[in-house]
Amino acid sequence: MDEQLAENVATVQQQIAEAARRSGRDASEVCLVGVTKYVDVATTRALVAAGCRTLGENRPQVLWEKSSEMQGLDVRWHMIGHLQRNKVKRTVESTALIHSCDSLRLLKSIHQAGLQLDKQVDVLLEVNVSGEAAKHGFSPDEIESVIEAVEPFSGLRVTGLMCMAGLGSDEQDVRREFDLLRQLRESNRANVPKNVDLRELSMGMSRDFEVAIEAGATLVRVGSSLFRGLR
Ligand SMILES: *Cc1c(COP(=O)(O)O)cnc(C)c1O
Repeated sequence: MDEQLAENVATVQQQIAEAARRSGRDASEVCLVGVTKYVDVATTRALVAAGCRTLGENRPQVLWEKSSEMQGLDVRWHMIGHLQRNKVKRTVESTALIHSCDSLRLLKSIHQAGLQLDKQVDVLLEVNVSGEAAKHGFSPDEIESVIEAVEPFSGLRVTGLMCMAGLGSDEQDVRREFDLLRQLRESNRANVPKNVDLRELSMGMSRDFEVAIEAGATLVRVGSSLFRGLR
């Protein structure tokens, strides 16, 4: 298992580097978030040993459990899935970044949890770039007002935007959706409150992370490609 994982991590890192080079970027601008939602703690540990130190989980409870079982390892946990307000406090305690903030009520809860813990929680705003009804996220034209509305939320810091390509999107649609996220960042970068700095773009999964990097991704969330050939 360890060898296969090491090979998979190396392959994905190489694909990241090539996509960065193609688009005139440096590979160091792109962080691989290894999505471990498919695997148990033992395999997650092996992934860390293979060199992947930023991990993403989409279910809060699993993130809490794994992060506590793996305490002491040099790992940063990212929450990438839908988060309910009653799970905010524990999630804030165990994550370095919450990608999936999709309502002002949730942002306010995160702010309050941040104040309680005396920290500024890093978050991304999830944007529904495909317009699919089943997708979470703010609509693109809400982002400007959301950025204004978080100004008093001193317990958090908005460090960027996140999206998922539409399920029904072909490659051209995907490119358009990722370009839209980048344009949203560019058009909202100036005149932001003190606790907003849109440097991160979290976009791209196994099927489309190379397109995402060409469109400007700084965080790619890759799961299945890392666990290929394991069983
Ligand atoms: C599962 C998941 C991923 C990773 O998907 P793969 O296709 O397995 O790479 C990325 N982002 C989110 C939000 C996910 O839930």
